Amino acid sequence: MGVTLDLSRAGAVTPVRPNLSGLTRPALAAALVDAGVASPEKARMRAVQAWRWIHHYGVTDFGRMTDIAKETRAALAEHFRLDRPEVVERQVSRDGTRKWLIRMAPGVEVETVYIPDVGRAGALCISSQVGCTLNCTFCHTGTQALVRNLTAAEIVAQVQVARDDLEEWPSPKEDRRLSNIVFMGMGEPLYNLDAVADAIDIIADNEGIAISRRRITVSTSGVIPEFQALGQRTQAMLAISLHATNDALRDVLVPLNRKYPIAELMAAVRAFPGLSNARRATFEYVMLKGVNDSPAEARALVQLLKAIPAKINLIPFNPWPGTDYQCSDWGTIEAFAAILNRAGFASPIRTPRGRDILAACGQLKSESEKLRASARRSTALPPDA
Ligand code: SAH
Ligand code: SF4
Repeated sequence: MGVTLDLSRAGAVTPVRPNLSGLTRPALAAALVDAGVASPEKARMRAVQAWRWIHHYGVTDFGRMTDIAKETRAALAEHFRLDRPEVVERQVSRDGTRKWLIRMAPGVEVETVYIPDVGRAGALCISSQVGCTLNCTFCHTGTQALVRNLTAAEIVAQVQVARDDLEEWPSPKEDRRLSNIVFMGMGEPLYNLDAVADAIDIIADNEGIAISRRRITVSTSGVIPEFQALGQRTQAMLAISLHATNDALRDVLVPLNRKYPIAELMAAVRAFPGLSNARRATFEYVMLKGVNDSPAEARALVQLLKAIPAKINLIPFNPWPGTDYQCSDWGTIEAFAAILNRAGFASPIRTPRGRDILAACGQLKSESEKLRASARRSTALPPDA
């Protein structure tokens, strides 16, 4: 009985063809050999060809790989996929910010946000997980349970979707609109480092999407044990979500601080591979009214970062339904920034972007889920219709 059942279940599962967009160069060559699409001798050459079509031209159809023999293209299509995930919703803000709700699989949706005039030309804010296991008290994503880690293909797909919409294929070397990538969407990238590192290898490759590692920033709430691996494997830029200058407060705002307190965090940043005045760490500091925004805290921040090549990014708090926090007054934020500037820190205030389409930091996903839910309610359909 049990055996019959097992067999029938095995028969019902169609093996999923892997999406080639998520394979690094060596993995791509190996996959072609494993699938019998290329001989071990020809695998590297085939991988170079396929790579260019996928990551330089952005093709989603094996049929367009015109320098690859027809039979080989057919074999590729039989074993692999190249399609994009579904874009469920696309919004453009008055300020030019674009947001896509992307469905990776049923129930696995992420939001990706493009912000023009940030970095060299424009930055794409991408997600590494659906939901988050950490519970930073000011973050809306933190109120959602982790659904799952994204795969490398799903991380790369966010860049591809943005490139499709910005009409940036073949991948331009100059005059590009998408010039920077920040892992500041949903999730804690250092809890999904394997996929994040593979995705960075793919995105940074010079014969493809070609976004330099120096223009890729990974933001973490402070998962210290992964810092060395992050630096060594990705050579990406580091951003730390600091938000407080003493452990008592940071314990509350970023509960991971109880495990990795500020002194240890600072030591880990100092030891981050490749940190220098030309490659500074960014410290993110969310401005919460009456919580962490006093002049004394600005001075404490200066003391804390004195010996570190650092930039500070002040983020006005973006409120969400149900939060007790409020954004600091503009004058308070400016006074805070002035203290940092006087001490020699570049400390731009991150102007909230895309608030009209709920694309600002900490407003991602659940907010639009709520809106969709209320839209469903207003059409008076049963919830699962
Ligand atoms: N998990 C990672 C990366 C994603 S969060 C991290 O915590 O660093 C990206 C940034 O947005 C973090 O600095 C986070 O603290 C900040 N953030 C989260 N919620 C916010 C909110 N409601 N308003 C402003 N910034 C917020
Ligand atoms: Fe997770 Fe970052 Fe939000 Fe904290 S701030 S809950 S680590 S996404």
